[in-house]
Amino acid sequence: MNRRPDMDAHFAEKRRQYVRKKKSKTKGILLALMCIAIAVVWTFIGVAIYQLSKFNDPVVDTATGTEDVSPVSTTEAPIETTTAPNNQTLVTVERAQVTRGSLILVSELVDRAFDFEQEEELVTLYGNKSKSYKISSTAIKLNRETFDAVEAMFNAYKAETGNGDYQITQAHRTLEEQTSIYDSYKETYGEEQGTMLAARPGYSEHHSGYAFDMNVYAGGQGYSLGTAHEVNPIYGWIYDHADEYGFVVRYPEGKTAVTGITNEPWHFRYVGKGHASYMKEHDLVLEEYVALLYKYPHDGEHLEFEYDGVKYEVSFVMFGKDVDSIDIYVNADKTYIFSGENSDGVIITQIS
Ligand SMILES: [Zn+2]
Repeated sequence: MNRRPDMDAHFAEKRRQYVRKKKSKTKGILLALMCIAIAVVWTFIGVAIYQLSKFNDPVVDTATGTEDVSPVSTTEAPIETTTAPNNQTLVTVERAQVTRGSLILVSELVDRAFDFEQEEELVTLYGNKSKSYKISSTAIKLNRETFDAVEAMFNAYKAETGNGDYQITQAHRTLEEQTSIYDSYKETYGEEQGTMLAARPGYSEHHSGYAFDMNVYAGGQGYSLGTAHEVNPIYGWIYDHADEYGFVVRYPEGKTAVTGITNEPWHFRYVGKGHASYMKEHDLVLEEYVALLYKYPHDGEHLEFEYDGVKYEVSFVMFGKDVDSIDIYVNADKTYIFSGENSDGVIITQIS
């Protein structure tokens, strides 16, 4: 090479500068890449922490059953959960419910006395009732739910027939009142027959406030309800329509072996709309209906039927020993009603 040494030096310096520049440029790109990498990693960590925190939060609001909407992003899909299906609300059934409600079974055949006093819930009919029917005593009382249904039923009867001769003769009874009835029946009819005709104190559904006896009172005379329709066919109206208002004939002919009580065509029991019609249609007394419902546990298939355009879904939960409450899911779109069966369980009726 015949290049001048100064030229060589010049090029060497240029090359060094170039290399330095190139080095510093590479360094800058590496730094930028590292920064991007760190930013990406932090973003991942941030998203992961956020997702984890969402898993720890309850996804479904148990009070309303609505899906929890993310406060950060409204476009994000909700996390799937197996704890609460859509439209389900968690509710608590308390053991105290076992002895309350329109489906309680008070019977000599249920090995549990009904000694639950509910004086505070009773309505005295005298002074509160309409003029669509009569009462034989100012002391007649029913619980609020039954009183409202009685009013609706007899108002409909009066409107339809113009007649107001139905008369309530017996309704709620205290344990003391039942004791005196029981004793007098035993005295009059003897031990064996007397105990067949009157329920033992604590085992009469008259204690519940859901039952009443009635007759017909016309022209200054009383007629037994079972034969009153022979006097005038309009008195048979109640047997055709009672179920529409939630009532059943509690001790019909042919069911004595099941109920333990002989035919009582005058004794009506409020069980609730829908239930009454299902029982009538399928010829079931309350003992048989409750036994049927035992086959529909709440966490299994429910008994479903329709009455008067309303859908009924009925199921059952059993408490068992030492259980004070049970949490169950009900459909948030439906109305639900609890009723005990006076033994160990609660019947859930969902209506839509
Ligand atoms: Zn009765």
